[in-house]
Amino acid sequence: MSSPQANHTPVSPHIPQRISARLATLGEGLTLYRTLPTRQRRMIGAWCFLDHVGPVPADPGMHVGQHPHTGLQTFTWMIEGEILHRDSLGNEQVIRPGQVNLMTAGHGITHTEDSLSGQTAVHAAQLWIALPPAQADMAPAFEHHPQLPQWEDTGARFTLLAGQHAGRNAPPKVYSPLMGLDIACTDTATLQLPLNPGFEHGLMPLRGELQIGQDTFTANELAYLPPGLTELPLTLAPDTQLLVLGGEPFPVPLLMWWNFVGFSKADLSQAQADWASGAARFGAMTAGKTASG
Ligand code: MN
Repeated sequence: MSSPQANHTPVSPHIPQRISARLATLGEGLTLYRTLPTRQRRMIGAWCFLDHVGPVPADPGMHVGQHPHTGLQTFTWMIEGEILHRDSLGNEQVIRPGQVNLMTAGHGITHTEDSLSGQTAVHAAQLWIALPPAQADMAPAFEHHPQLPQWEDTGARFTLLAGQHAGRNAPPKVYSPLMGLDIACTDTATLQLPLNPGFEHGLMPLRGELQIGQDTFTANELAYLPPGLTELPLTLAPDTQLLVLGGEPFPVPLLMWWNFVGFSKADLSQAQADWASGAARFGAMTAGKTASG
């Protein structure tokens, strides 16, 4: 016969903060789930924007016309479907499931994103990474990563999207101490996730269900944990896919307006005025083929 104590589950010193997504609209009316920034939380490390797109039918899919960025990197993690990226550096790159596109806006860039026809669905995580002050004004760049470190452990498949984890390094070039990890399982998976105690973390199911201690998180609910944890016990329900973001708390306050980030209102109004006047800093998109053409 068990004592009451035997049934008592210790409460974690860090109860995750629950951040629910707000609905937002992207491009030509595609509805998506946005968990960063929200009223409750602006950033996780240098990660300053988290949109979860889909899964939605590929027709019409995702179509985002020409728009500029400054001071950040856009990070696309493709789960299902194919999207054509075009930018003012002249890049034309199709991104497919399991791949990452990383566009560094720095001083300024312009891009478009279009679902390719002939797909069944579109499902992606689209993130922004704020560039720290020393790199915020750097020259723009674009990287396509067709392959990322992938391994299996305790019944789950891990894909390292950014930074370091478990002795592995992801290839995307980032400028702050941060990490991004995808964990997927088909059956229930119970694991002990090692964490960098200098990082704050956010864990969000893209599908399925995550349990941390007594708390359950479903798709588009972000569990935030402050720095100080060296590991975290997780239970993933069958058919769960989980996004894990971590990073050192960003060293300076960040301002965001539309597609621009900066460190002062002057940074943002300059970017806005430059975009309105067609300034050279954003480059020019050459007339090219379109996704459907
Ligand atoms: Mn964009």
